[in-house]
Amino acid sequence: MTAKLVVRGLNAWYGRAHILFDVTLSVAGGEVLALLGRNGAGKTTTLASLMGLVPAVTGDVILDGVPIAGLPAHRIARLGLGYVPEDRRIFSDLTVAENLAVGRQPPRPGVPAWTPAALFDLFPNLADLRHRRAGQMSGGEQQMLTIARTLMGNPSVILLDEPAEGLAPRIVAQMAAVLRTMKAEGLTLIVSEQNLHFARSVVDRVCILEKGRLRFEGTMATFDGAKDVKDRYLAI
Ligand code: ATP
Repeated sequence: MTAKLVVRGLNAWYGRAHILFDVTLSVAGGEVLALLGRNGAGKTTTLASLMGLVPAVTGDVILDGVPIAGLPAHRIARLGLGYVPEDRRIFSDLTVAENLAVGRQPPRPGVPAWTPAALFDLFPNLADLRHRRAGQMSGGEQQMLTIARTLMGNPSVILLDEPAEGLAPRIVAQMAAVLRTMKAEGLTLIVSEQNLHFARSVVDRVCILEKGRLRFEGTMATFDGAKDVKDRYLAI
């Protein structure tokens, strides 16, 4: 498989604090990569750096053969990278339908365009709530809306930052189903989690970060057999 997204030698800083150290990873088209690590390991910084949201970054990021490191976030989004941040940046005063309209981007060649109707099939709860103000919805509903709005940008790769964090078990199961559907649609996903829980059924490969460094990269089977790695680098 050819690489869809390649990250080589990524370093990131917040002010003078050096946070990421030579992170190198790649994800193939249609693949789901789990980015694991404890609190503060650098998962959010990695995803935000790929999206162009961390100003002080060095290294290469290549999406579909196009170098994107250093481009502003809106251009990176137009090139096909979608981002679902941990803090659910929806517009609270707008309705569900309005939030989706705001996320709309022109379709990109070779990527089928998402429509609100298709998204309401994928997220039936949102269909029922389409005229509800987003700020009046539950955390789980807001998280689904964030994903739906990201899909409206017709990305080919989506970065999801701890999408199941803080959600009720029933909603976590729905989230796993949504990831499965996105994978079945041919989307490439990078999903961060503290440990491999809800995304297990959909993940192909695992990377583990610790203190801003990549400590492990392997298939699900290798990860499952690597008890020492889990003990050392993940929250149990
Ligand atoms: P979490 O599970 O808490 O989201 P994470 O793996 O996503 O953790 P990051 O949020 O990327 O980790 O944080 C990596 C390191 O960078 C931590 O030491 C954190 O304290 C530091 N950090 C994060 N944001 C900033 C910031 N805006 N300014 C300075 N340091 C920051």
